[in-house]
Amino acid sequence: MNGAPIPVPSGAEPPLRVPGRALALSLAAFGVPVIASLALPDVANSGVGTLVWLPALIPAFLLAYYRGMRGVAIALAGGMAVITATQLSVVWFDIAEPNWSLLAAIVGAYLAVSVGIAVLAEALRRERRLAEALAFMDRLTALPNRRQLDITLEAACASAERGHPVTVVIFDLDHFKRVNDVHGHAAGDLALQEFAQVLRANTRKQDLSARFGGEEFVSVLRDGDEAAAVKFAERVCQQMRDKKFAWGTQTVSAGVAAHQAGMASHELLLAAADRALYTSKHNGRDRVSTATHVGLIAALVPEGPARPATPAAGTEVPKPSRPPRARLYVVDDEPEIRTTLRLALTEDGYEVWDTDDPKEAIRHFAAAAESERPDAIISDVIMPGMTGMTMVDQIVALCPTLRVIYMSGYVKGPVSWAGAPGAVVRFLEKPFTIDTLMAAVEGILAAERGPAA
Ligand code: GH3
Ligand code: MG
Ligand code: MG
Repeated sequence: MNGAPIPVPSGAEPPLRVPGRALALSLAAFGVPVIASLALPDVANSGVGTLVWLPALIPAFLLAYYRGMRGVAIALAGGMAVITATQLSVVWFDIAEPNWSLLAAIVGAYLAVSVGIAVLAEALRRERRLAEALAFMDRLTALPNRRQLDITLEAACASAERGHPVTVVIFDLDHFKRVNDVHGHAAGDLALQEFAQVLRANTRKQDLSARFGGEEFVSVLRDGDEAAAVKFAERVCQQMRDKKFAWGTQTVSAGVAAHQAGMASHELLLAAADRALYTSKHNGRDRVSTATHVGLIAALVPEGPARPATPAAGTEVPKPSRPPRARLYVVDDEPEIRTTLRLALTEDGYEVWDTDDPKEAIRHFAAAAESERPDAIISDVIMPGMTGMTMVDQIVALCPTLRVIYMSGYVKGPVSWAGAPGAVVRFLEKPFTIDTLMAAVEGILAAERGPAA
């Protein structure tokens, strides 16, 4: 990523003028009690009549209230209540003749402090809003980031289960590494920003387009079918194709998948779109493919093998006897998970590699001699760059005896994992204990080869 300025989120804030206006109006409102005390000194300066000073605070209160500065509005309202109560009790209990100049000084000081607090509160509120917006935004493209995508997609899939169709499109810029290598990272960044602009211009308000990671983008489209999503994807790809870059045109590949009833999680929907994307790449890039065409959706709807039994809480988990020495490969984009798994598995006598990059894992399996290849892969499902399932498909093509453990925080149930015929596949729902992991690893290494066991 380059040093591009951090784009300010849309819905730009007006300049910080409110407290100034509050002060001016409040000072003007002081005119009311001043005139009242000059014109009707007996009424204004006696007993409850002194409350005529209070309107001086009302403009500040109203401005704070309507600008959403709740803390300041509450402080002003509380202050007015306290002044009123004090004044009434002074009059009712006949404590003393009020000192008007002192009262005016108190109100003035109170006003100044309130305006000071207003400036501070407003500045802090803006800083917090900006920080919140940045946490959900990609800095380079100003599109929503993967965190926002996860939240939106999860909600969209939940509403899809209630009958509102959802389709996702994954876009991936073609041969983008070459662009970086030949024309430099800055030129690559510019192309990413151009593509983000095309996506933004084509994304309706009810939909969301996000940067998934690297040169991959995901659109979540609501209330439309697969055909509408294909049209959208083709329009986006065409508009990008129409742009001119130093290297000519920049083509894009896309994969489309529609949510199906019973699909256990949004990760599966993304995985289906990712496989369709892989089909586009495989067939020559610069095209849009759909998951239904490549026959993936049916395979991604839950059914199939039972998960390995998780021991009930409190039951003694038999420690595996010293496991047969085996090679394991851990793939997860979360460094903490990789480190934890590597330490635990190494301590148990396994030989462990790990990476955050599915492509790196594929290269590792492709490069290793058959006798040196890892016996099993333990993989996250959704990672930037490629889903675990697409990665496993490619590794199984090289290494049909592969044993696979998928880890997912979203998939809540057993799934018939297509695309890895012959491989032994297990599934772990995050979070899991190290004991559960060890049992799964033992089980998978001991299992017979065959269709997903
Ligand atoms: P394919 O057509 O198969 O998608 O090939 P590719 O070269 O696009 O795919 P690959 O995943 O091998 O390369 C992706 C490249 O995207 C690698 C990396 O240099 C580049 N990239 C990822 N993030 C950024 C970024 O923020 N800025 C720039 N300039 N490049 C990025
Ligand atoms: Mg690419
Ligand atoms: Mg990519």
